[in-house]
Amino acid sequence: MERGAGVRCVYIHIPFCRKKCDYCDFVSYAGKEELIDRYVEALIKEINSPPPFGFPPLLLREGDKGGELETLFIGGGTPTLLESAHFEKIISSIICHLSLDICHSEITVEANPKTADRQKLQALKELGVNRLSIGAQSFNDRHLKTLGRIHDSADILRFYDDARSIGFENISLDLIFAIPGQTLEEWQTDLKTAIGLRPNHLSTYNLTIEESTPLHEEITNNRIQITNNETEATMFEYSIEALVAAGYQHYEISNFARPGFECQHNLNYWKNGNYIGIGAGAHSHINGQRWSNTASIEEYINTPSSFLPLSKGENAESALADEARGGQRETLFLGLRMLDGLSAAKFQGFEEEVNQLLNEGLLARNHGHYHLTRRGIMLGNQVFERFV
Ligand code: SF4
Repeated sequence: MERGAGVRCVYIHIPFCRKKCDYCDFVSYAGKEELIDRYVEALIKEINSPPPFGFPPLLLREGDKGGELETLFIGGGTPTLLESAHFEKIISSIICHLSLDICHSEITVEANPKTADRQKLQALKELGVNRLSIGAQSFNDRHLKTLGRIHDSADILRFYDDARSIGFENISLDLIFAIPGQTLEEWQTDLKTAIGLRPNHLSTYNLTIEESTPLHEEITNNRIQITNNETEATMFEYSIEALVAAGYQHYEISNFARPGFECQHNLNYWKNGNYIGIGAGAHSHINGQRWSNTASIEEYINTPSSFLPLSKGENAESALADEARGGQRETLFLGLRMLDGLSAAKFQGFEEEVNQLLNEGLLARNHGHYHLTRRGIMLGNQVFERFV
C-alpha cells in the first residue's frame, strides 16, 4: 500500500490475558475478563466513530467509494479469550461500517492454544477468519514454563490439529528462541517440530528481556541465566537455514512463509503504509501521523462513544518532524526489515549512511534495491539505528 493511498488495514486490540506471561510487556492485562462485554461494546462504538484529526472517511481512497479493507488483524493480548458471540459482533460491525469483504480480505486472529476449543475455532471459520496466528513459542514444556505460558506442548498440537481439521489453511506459528536455559539442540528440536506441522507461515523471535517483567527480575537476581550472544546468533542462523531448506521464504527478519502466504497485514506495516488501530493501546498511522489510544481498558470503556480520546503516540513528534522528509526515515528502517529491501531511489539524501553500511558489509545492492546482507540481518539493529 502506498503512503497517502487511504487506509486498507485495520488492527483490533484485545488486551485481555488469562495470566501475564513472565516476559511480556505488551498492553495486556490478566484478571479483567469481567470487562470483556463492555470492552467489546466500546470497540463497536470506536468502529462506528468518525476518525480523529479531521481525516476523511478513512477506509476509502479518495473518490473510491467501493474501497474495501485488505486486512483485518485481531491481536492481543489473547483474542481467543473472547466468546464466539463477541467475534460475531466485532466482525459484523466491521463488515457494516468499514467495507470488509470476507471473501477477499486477509482476516487474522491471534490464538492462544489454551483458550479456544473446536467450537470456537469453527465459529471463527464461519465468521470469515481465514488466518490463525498461533502463539506456540516452544514445544518444550520446561521452556514454556520459564516463559510463564498457560499452555503446554500437547495443547499446541491439539489446537493445531483442530484448526487444520476445521479447514484453516493459512496458519502461522510464533516461536521464541534464546529462552534462558534453552540449548541449541532444544531450539533445533522446536524448529523441527514446527516444520513437521507444515504451517504456511512461521515467525521466530529471539527473546527480549524487557525491564519490569518477572523474567527480568529472575535474571537480575541471578536465578536464571540469559543465553549468550554467540548461541543466540547460532540459533538465529540455524533458523534461517532450516526454514529455507524446508521451503519457506525468509521475507522479513523474523518471518518466513510459503510462497503466497506472507502476512499482508504486517507487510503493510513494514511498507510504512496506513493503518487504523482500534481498541485500548492500539496504534494508528495515516500519512505520517501516528497516534495511540489509551492503554487503560477502563478509560477506553468509559470514553464517550463518538470521540474516544486518542493521545498522540510516543513517536508522534518524531513522525511529524520526519514528515518534512516524507516519512523517509520510517520508510527506510521499516522497509529494510524486508529481505527484498527497498528501491535505491528511496535512499536519496542518505548516501553517506548507505555507503558506510555497504562498506561494513551490512547492506548490498541488487537489481536497483538495497537490502540487508546475511551479516546485516544478524546485526539488524546496527543498520536501523542509522535511519532512526
Ligand atoms: S499471551 Fe501474549 S499478550 Fe498475553 S501475557 Fe502472554 S505474551 Fe503477553
